[in-house]
Amino acid sequence: MASENPSASEQWQHEPPYKIQGGDEFGAVYWTGSCQCGRVSYKLNREKPLDAKYCHCTGCQVLHGAPFQWAAIFHKSDMTFTHGHQGMDFYKSSEKKRVHDLPCKATCSYCHSPIMDEGRNVILLFPGLIKGNEKGNADVRRVFKPR
Ligand SMILES: [Zn+2]
Ligand SMILES: [Zn+2]
Repeated sequence: MASENPSASEQWQHEPPYKIQGGDEFGAVYWTGSCQCGRVSYKLNREKPLDAKYCHCTGCQVLHGAPFQWAAIFHKSDMTFTHGHQGMDFYKSSEKKRVHDLPCKATCSYCHSPIMDEGRNVILLFPGLIKGNEKGNADVRRVFKPR
């Protein structure tokens, strides 16, 4: 019962990727990402995603306004928000409700860029938000290419 722990419904805000991690705790940063307006930004401490995929299902087509979704899978602890994670909207597509109830989708509440699909144990990030490194954006396409 929820009454046993009144704060349980907010506990997710204190765990990765919402828990702010920095410095030695987080380790080396391989990638940074941000939404179109820049209000939401994050960093990743893992170079290669656990997996990457294109999804052509009609749900992804509608929600992304695109022929397919390009997603890269990471552990939640691989990511930490650097700005603006309080300014995100959540959407549980299976119930068509705007709630943070996993699995659900997260978007920037200002520019509405899709930030991630958050599962119970992993997150699916959208590589279009990830900034290139010194090798440019070609490296993003190579590293995050579906295998
Ligand atoms: Zn934004
Ligand atoms: Zn899909």
